Amino acid sequence: MNLRLYDPFANMTFSEHACFLCGTIVNDTERLPVFPAWLQKRYGLAAKNLMLLDQSQIAFGEMTLPCCPGCQKTVGELEEKVLVANDNGLQGWQNLDEKSIFLWLAKIYYGITVTELKAERAPLIKPEHSVGENPKMLQKLQSLFMLLQALRVPVEFDDFTPASVFLVPLQRETTEPEFNYRDDITTMMFSLQLDDVLIVSHLLDNGFLKKALTPVLRAIEGEQLHPIQAAEFSARVYYAAYLFNLIPDYFVRSQKPGDTHLIYDTLVDDITGSIFNPWENDVYATALEKFWQPWHVSRPQILQNPDLPLSFLLTEEGTFRKLESWEIPV
Ligand SMILES: [Zn+2]
Repeated sequence: MNLRLYDPFANMTFSEHACFLCGTIVNDTERLPVFPAWLQKRYGLAAKNLMLLDQSQIAFGEMTLPCCPGCQKTVGELEEKVLVANDNGLQGWQNLDEKSIFLWLAKIYYGITVTELKAERAPLIKPEHSVGENPKMLQKLQSLFMLLQALRVPVEFDDFTPASVFLVPLQRETTEPEFNYRDDITTMMFSLQLDDVLIVSHLLDNGFLKKALTPVLRAIEGEQLHPIQAAEFSARVYYAAYLFNLIPDYFVRSQKPGDTHLIYDTLVDDITGSIFNPWENDVYATALEKFWQPWHVSRPQILQNPDLPLSFLLTEEGTFRKLESWEIPV
């Protein structure tokens, strides 16, 4: 069993001719789609565009990573598992183990980020948040990549979950396939809507966001969210990610001869201060306004009561608000 890890960040080699996962030399045809083929097919994504940080457009189908046949095979096994889960909707996703969901999301997210890095070499417009020029960003990506090695090398995460993954059931009037996508590269946030399941994830927080949002999660447990509620839920998670201060580190435990897998330990350096910066309603309102843009809810409407921003998700007592239709209170 080969337990050797690969790290392209050690000398920043992101060659188009080295497998992204193991570094093996590959030819031009050995590529892996960032958004898996089954996903592109089910949601008609191949020709749809996604906008990068430098405002350039790229089709979902054009985003690929160099990948050797061996790694394509192991990734393919995971894809098969996720495809079957997605065919079973929410229940399928809930039955999928957290590590598989994490690795599946992390691979897509990593692929998008590498595409961003490449675009930055010849940017259309200089992005506000550059990936390659931000040392913290690179540190986070390197950590994520180390976790992603679990796709090809047997790795056990000892006593920690690297990510927070939220699976949110949605109210939906159509049975047509529905896909939505959002990310925030600077905070490691990533979400996908697949039909009536919304997956929101912080990919590198060791589960801290999930813990911090426990009261909200308890309130909405088992409920199907109206789209305006789902948008509010997303705003809360994305804003919490923005307040999150830590970057977890991961280490490989020393090996003994005959070991069949690696064990990762984690260390969270929290000596420097608090895990989250303080929640500020006026900043949160700006985030929420962005997420509520499709419904044209403005910041002043959100902050009618500055101490208690408008919520369609929770009542003033913090319980779930049943919502068939909605209106802004005057
Ligand atoms: Zn490979």
